[in-house]
Amino acid sequence: MPAALSAHNLYKVFGRRAKQAVARLTEGRDVGGLDVTAAVADVSFHVEPGEIFVVMGLSGSGKSTLIRMLNGLLAPSSGRVEVDGTDLTALRPAELRTLRREKISMVFQHFALLPHRTVLDNAAYALEVARVPTAERLERARHALDLVGLTGREDALPQQLSGGMKQRVGLARALAAGTDIMLMDEAFSALDPLIRREMQDQLLELQESLGKTIVFITHDLNEAMRLGDRIAVMRDGRIVQIGTAEEILTDPSSDYVAQFVADVD
Ligand code: ADP
Ligand code: MG
Repeated sequence: MPAALSAHNLYKVFGRRAKQAVARLTEGRDVGGLDVTAAVADVSFHVEPGEIFVVMGLSGSGKSTLIRMLNGLLAPSSGRVEVDGTDLTALRPAELRTLRREKISMVFQHFALLPHRTVLDNAAYALEVARVPTAERLERARHALDLVGLTGREDALPQQLSGGMKQRVGLARALAAGTDIMLMDEAFSALDPLIRREMQDQLLELQESLGKTIVFITHDLNEAMRLGDRIAVMRDGRIVQIGTAEEILTDPSSDYVAQFVADVD
């Protein structure tokens, strides 16, 4: 069974007086005058193994800050993240790197491909960093490229690829890494609508066959509805509702959510 992931009262406050601000926020007081940004405030959720958990919110609502805490790239100001019962925030840097390598991959909006490396090398990159022997990592990378329909493109350079293909390479890199958990931050947001739908379908198919635990971030409600087993709606750093697409559509928790879903196609 793939791993579970959970967030427990997570806060991330930026600014010199962040500590003070978190102390106030946890007491339910406001932080006006402290000159801080509370990017994430009191966020808790549990992602089930094999679930696609979508975090949806407008630009600036704290989604990227949240996802970076989920894989330990960013330390929370307060609260904790657990992966299969391991508290990420309690790990030493070396342990955290190992856990990230073995359990969590990230797919980014702007692909994060190495421009001078071939498609195959890019797909194998996470394994190269993990020092997996060459033959094994190329085999795994080839297999991952096959899964995303890029067989025959192994020797191409990123600049020779369309946006959709570049993102397939990004996805293949995460798949080759073989981690249970995939974090995807606006992974399809830079793609044209048609390609974007194709990628969504492909992700759902891969999910069906491979059964990853996925946290998928988007500002797009339709994308959230298509992909999410459950959706968390974020507003100003807080989660205002968690539910299935159906629940959020039929029983929005607030006027804010109701207005948000009024835009759904
Ligand atoms: P989203 O991904 O939903 O667009 P972000 O997590 O990027 O939102 O940002 C949430 C808020 O935190 C924004 O107000 C942003 O300006 C602020 N923020 C993000 N990163 C930093 C940082 N390193 N320093 C200061 N403020 C930041
Ligand atoms: Mg973002």
